[in-house]
Amino acid sequence: MNVHDTEKVTGALVERGYAPVEKPEDAELVLYNTCSIRDKAEQKVFSRLQQFKRQCGKGKIFGVLGCVAQQEGEKIFERAPHVSLVAGSASYPRLGELLTQLESGNRRVTGLAFDSEESFETPFTRRDNPNRAYITIIEGCDKACAYCVVPFTRGPERSRSSASVIEEAARLAAEGYTEIQLLGQNVNSYRDPSPEGWNFATLMDRVARIPGIRRVRFTTSHPRDFGKEIVDAMDRNPVICDHVHLPVQSGSTKVLAAMDRQYTRDEYVRRIDWLKNAGRAYSLTTDIIVGFPGETEEDFQQTLRLLDEVEYDSMFSFKYSPRPNTAALGLPDVIPEEEKQRRLVILQERQRAIQIRRNAALIGEIREVLVEGRNQALGQWVGRTSCNRVLNFTVPEAGGEPLTGRYLPVRITRSGPNSLVGESAIMV
Ligand code: SAH
Ligand code: SF4
Repeated sequence: MNVHDTEKVTGALVERGYAPVEKPEDAELVLYNTCSIRDKAEQKVFSRLQQFKRQCGKGKIFGVLGCVAQQEGEKIFERAPHVSLVAGSASYPRLGELLTQLESGNRRVTGLAFDSEESFETPFTRRDNPNRAYITIIEGCDKACAYCVVPFTRGPERSRSSASVIEEAARLAAEGYTEIQLLGQNVNSYRDPSPEGWNFATLMDRVARIPGIRRVRFTTSHPRDFGKEIVDAMDRNPVICDHVHLPVQSGSTKVLAAMDRQYTRDEYVRRIDWLKNAGRAYSLTTDIIVGFPGETEEDFQQTLRLLDEVEYDSMFSFKYSPRPNTAALGLPDVIPEEEKQRRLVILQERQRAIQIRRNAALIGEIREVLVEGRNQALGQWVGRTSCNRVLNFTVPEAGGEPLTGRYLPVRITRSGPNSLVGESAIMV
């Protein structure tokens, strides 16, 4: 989502006559997009701002965008006086106006209000990847997970009209993009604001039918809003990739309640069962937080057992990080840092063993990859399967032909915990 926000901001700047440069020192305007999901990411921002100042020299204009900007607001001007613009993502629809103020010499420009009902769409988005295009379908978040800063930094939920999503996807397909990734903090709660009133399953179904689109992905799903109709839409459309990222956060119903996730372990597992009993095999991935206040050893063991039960293909795992304004800040039974670290290591080891086993089971199979590029050092092409695994492969007769952007069948010959190795199954 942050990558795509940057693509949109870049597009808005280019449209205004700015041109991108390779190095910050060549820039006149430096806009730094930021994340504050965990404390560590936030701390980096201020050291990077100092670094940019040293690197770029005098007379440059600096702006801070994204979640740290929203969260810290005008305090950023005090901590980093060389910064002239502070704007959160909910203010990007006003970006043109903010830039006008900067260009006319105003050195304290802010965009921090949540008063806009608009989502930030621009026809000028500068996409970095020539084959895969991100499309935002919903911005903000109306959930209130007790650990999470997003509702405070990205504002309330705003869905885009289905017509504008379909129009953008069709235009991108006509431009040659073959993979569409639908984005939102919680895509499952998408509600078309236009009279059509489509839900997420219908929207995805229609995007998948656009000629030229070979892959559709979506992220992120909230389990509470992940209905059976989504699985049915996936089953109906082979174009929708064989992968669902369904963040569980914890395997303990007690911790889930404390997190205010609005589902129990059993309700989550029911959704996993839909996917396991569906029309084809779906790859499942998740996010887990360890060391949430009050998480006992037994709660943690339940999370480990959930990993064994579901057998995820990949997992993002985090130590709980207290965030400003969030409900969890006041909770008792804070878990010491060393204990969080111990649980994280155990969790990651358990998941690594599952991935080693699951990836090894794919040896000998043929999977189609979208080729993403070439790793010169290894002499291998890099592709991604529909189930979102990285597959590095060789092509016997490639003869230097550029393969990036093509779809190729690849036979899997070796596996590791995080990726697969193979050989192209056809002569290119
Ligand atoms: N909207 C997405 C979450 C985006 S944040 C969702 O609901 O799935 C991505 C992940 O960061 C979350 O799933 C969670 O695992 C992690 N995360 C968020 N806040 C955190 C915090 N305060 N401490 C540790 N991890 C956190
Ligand atoms: Fe954060 Fe929960 Fe919203 Fe995801 S659903 S962005 S974790 S509040």
